[in-house]
Amino acid sequence: MNYDQLLSVARKQAEIGAKEGGVPVGAALFDAEGKLLGEGRNRRVQEDDPSIHGETDAFRKAGRQTNYRDKILVTTLAPCWYCSGLIRQFNIGTVVVGEAVNFPGHLDWLREAGVNVIELRDPECIKLMAQFIEQRPDIWNEDIGECEH
Ligand SMILES: [Zn+2]
Repeated sequence: MNYDQLLSVARKQAEIGAKEGGVPVGAALFDAEGKLLGEGRNRRVQEDDPSIHGETDAFRKAGRQTNYRDKILVTTLAPCWYCSGLIRQFNIGTVVVGEAVNFPGHLDWLREAGVNVIELRDPECIKLMAQFIEQRPDIWNEDIGECEH
């Protein structure tokens, strides 16, 4: 499986999100053969909806699947607790992470559950997220649930 090629689908979603002024996280769900089932992006800002993360958007767009163990969820950034919970709830077999530099996520928690986690350290994903965090720390902190005290 060419994971970089799968990541390019999620990264395109993240780039669309950046142009829309949103949190630039994109994701896509593929079957075991690499066929695209659904793609999406974080639309917290665009839709005024904090529950739309890249992963949840792609997951919903893919519709009902009878089994997730053979599916591949690709995301540009390491999943947060909310999306990690989704991965474990539905037993998604493989998670491809574009980068875990700007946000480490909970990759060990996924691995403990038997998830095959593939970390790519993609320079484009790292750059896109770093720029956003620098430009809009307020929205970023809101997104990861870090309020200012
Ligand atoms: Zn999330």
